[in-house]
Amino acid sequence: MSKNVFLRSMMFCLVLMSLGCQRSNPSVSTSEGAKSATDAHGHDEVSLPADFSAGVKELDRLHSTIVAAYTENQPENAHDALHVVGEVLELLPQLAEKAAISGDGLAAVRDATHVLADSFTTLDDAMHDEKPVEFEPIKQKLADAMTRLQEAAAAIPVANNP
Ligand SMILES: [Zn+2]
Repeated sequence: MSKNVFLRSMMFCLVLMSLGCQRSNPSVSTSEGAKSATDAHGHDEVSLPADFSAGVKELDRLHSTIVAAYTENQPENAHDALHVVGEVLELLPQLAEKAAISGDGLAAVRDATHVLADSFTTLDDAMHDEKPVEFEPIKQKLADAMTRLQEAAAAIPVANNP
């Protein structure tokens, strides 16, 4: 009897945990800034980038992981990266400002960041809904946005990019 109650509460925890996961879609919100590097349900710890170039590099690494997972038809291999990537994307516009990127350059960074966040959210949502997703068009959007961010990183004035 008491064992049953225990099992039932375990089940309840698992249900809560999966709901928690569903809510932690990557999304861009500038209000929260850099906070905890670990999300509530124990994914891998992320080392949050300290400057824009490092942020783009980290994003490139996560982007490659995600593309490889879908290309190999193992989308679940992308799931942790899809959650982590939101935190990096959230930071990126602030890091761009710190690196003295402004005007059109900053607008391009913000735009590319939004495209990436939308695309990664689409992938994460599809995974939670267990729906198939057509990866090719998303892959192209991701690649274009990554190129724009890499161009922005390359264009940082030397004085701000030691
Ligand atoms: Zn998820």
